[in-house]
Amino acid sequence: MTAYLIKSVSVVGAAPTDLLIHDGVVAEAGVGLTAPDATVIDGTGLIALPGLVDLHTHLREPGREDAETVESGSRAAALGGYTAVCAMANTSPVADTAGVVEQVWRLGREAGLVDVQPIGAVTVGLAGGQLAELGAMADSAARVRIFSDDGHCVADPKLMRRALEYVKAFDGVIAQHAEEPRLTEGAQMHEGEVSTRLGLTGWPAVAEEAIIARDVLLAEHVGSRLHICHVSTAGSVEVLRHAKARGVKVTAEVTPHHLLLTDSKAETYDPVYKVNPPLRTATDVAALRAALAEGVIDIIATDHAPHAVEDKECEWAYARPGMLGLETALSIALDVLGPQWDLIAERMSRTPARIAGLDGHGVDPAPGVPANLTLVDPAARRTIEPAELASRSRNTPYARMTLPGRIVATFLRGEPTVLDGKAVK
Ligand SMILES: [Zn+2]
Repeated sequence: MTAYLIKSVSVVGAAPTDLLIHDGVVAEAGVGLTAPDATVIDGTGLIALPGLVDLHTHLREPGREDAETVESGSRAAALGGYTAVCAMANTSPVADTAGVVEQVWRLGREAGLVDVQPIGAVTVGLAGGQLAELGAMADSAARVRIFSDDGHCVADPKLMRRALEYVKAFDGVIAQHAEEPRLTEGAQMHEGEVSTRLGLTGWPAVAEEAIIARDVLLAEHVGSRLHICHVSTAGSVEVLRHAKARGVKVTAEVTPHHLLLTDSKAETYDPVYKVNPPLRTATDVAALRAALAEGVIDIIATDHAPHAVEDKECEWAYARPGMLGLETALSIALDVLGPQWDLIAERMSRTPARIAGLDGHGVDPAPGVPANLTLVDPAARRTIEPAELASRSRNTPYARMTLPGRIVATFLRGEPTVLDGKAVK
């Protein structure tokens, strides 16, 4: 196993130091380290972060390997600075059995670029009718701890309650896609001024807020852990603030696109901006940014949602919702938060690793710690070219935008997955 000596790197914004990576761990840290056999990386001007952890990734395998595979998505993740991703269950077949979650987990191990932690479905086939085999998935080799019907809301309150009760035994989490389906029938975009002007059916903020309000009460009643996927409205932030003040065990995520883009993008009729939940107003964006800084929203999660060209480059009404996110998330975070490295590490690595229970991830580089880390060049700026992305899909909303920050290297258990900004394999 090759050793790597990273010279003069700033660990999460601190004064420059050297890091020696050997045998899968950070073997030494300090100024003026030498290691004759090590490969030297000049870390001058670079920031070392604990490897990023994404709680919300769609890898599309099994079923839609034309849009993404576990391997291509893992490569996109590594290039984005990630060392672990949680793979959502809405594959085909759905990841609602021990067999399917183990398949995804095994494909992740074979790709070997990030740790792929499968998320199990809450209900059979994501159909919302009966609970999936949560216990069997938890006991499987994939050791599933997060369950979600993402893409669909667990709308039935009785099922939601039972799911929360079930996972309590093994400290599992139900991750809810909060969307009251009766309020969003036929919805194409955020319900507001722009949807009225364009004549498109709206997705009202209250459809999200009503489910979050219901579910934090259920979580409080049961005493279980609840996670809210892709929070998108100012009203949701207020519901979460209230629940957290009461001590409810709820965590929440926001996506990079909900931190940056607004519903005015729908005026282009470019389906690349169609996403669920939809892009909201500038007021919502401001509230989400404030909630993220404050900690009412705990983490940034990408909701990386690759789609084949025919599912995106068509009429708005027929396009599938979703955007790529893994290869641009750190840049968007840097753009939105500025160089607040401790906050970025907290929201993109430490806290998501803790929510998912991923040992060895989300820990700042220090002697003895597993070498899961990424090196960022904060001074670099790059223009996003869809054709250059490692994802099999091209549906990035940031095409030809120039964004700050570049991932220079990523290490998974001491082995580089990215060097000089390029995937190693
Ligand atoms: Zn979702």
